[in-house]
This record gives sequence, structure tokens and C-alpha cells, in this order.
Amino acid sequence: MSRRVKKKPLWQKKIALERIITLFELAKKELDIHPERSRRYVELLRKIGLRYNVRLPKDIKRSICKECNTILIPGKTAKVRLDSKKKTVIIKCLECGKIYRYPYSKEKE
Ligand SMILES: [Zn+2]
Repeated sequence: MSRRVKKKPLWQKKIALERIITLFELAKKELDIHPERSRRYVELLRKIGLRYNVRLPKDIKRSICKECNTILIPGKTAKVRLDSKKKTVIIKCLECGKIYRYPYSKEKE
């Protein structure tokens, strides 16, 4: 069965993005108090992104673990290392052990 992909109107995407950002802020706040709830928020914001075909802002995308939906905060839930030879940032989720590698971003100085 093929899923029909209907294009979402722009205003819907805009609202979706606002909800994603709000949920991300909430998830950050809840991380210390209710880690389970925090993960639920992350799960939810990712679902919204998928449903409305909204790409997550880069800083949000890199601050959540795709494996376990934990907000990645350096020194708390994540270990961050720089690999200067390969010019990559290595982020390890301390919750599930998943490792992410990103190239250094040079876009914004
Ligand atoms: Zn994880």
C-alpha cells in the first residue's frame, strides 16, 4: 500500500516548527526533573517533524539522541570530543551509548 504524500500548506509547517521548538524547550526543562517526560517530548517533536515534513533545526537535531530521545547536554547526558585530524565533533549519548559524528560547521562564524 502506498502512502499518499500530500503537501502541507506553509502555515501548517510554520505552526509545526513552533511546536517543535516549544517541545524542545520543555524537554530541556524536564530533563532533570522528569527524564521520562523529557524523552516523550523529544519523541513527540520528532513525530511532528515527520508528519509535517518539517526539517528539525540543526541545533535541535544535534541535541537529541535518535536512539533513545534523550536531550544531549555536554557534561550531563553527552560526552563531546573534538577530532581535529578528521575535523569532526564526536558526541556520545551517555544514556544509550550511541555515537554521533558531525563535521565542524564552518557556516556561521
Ligand atoms: Zn541515546
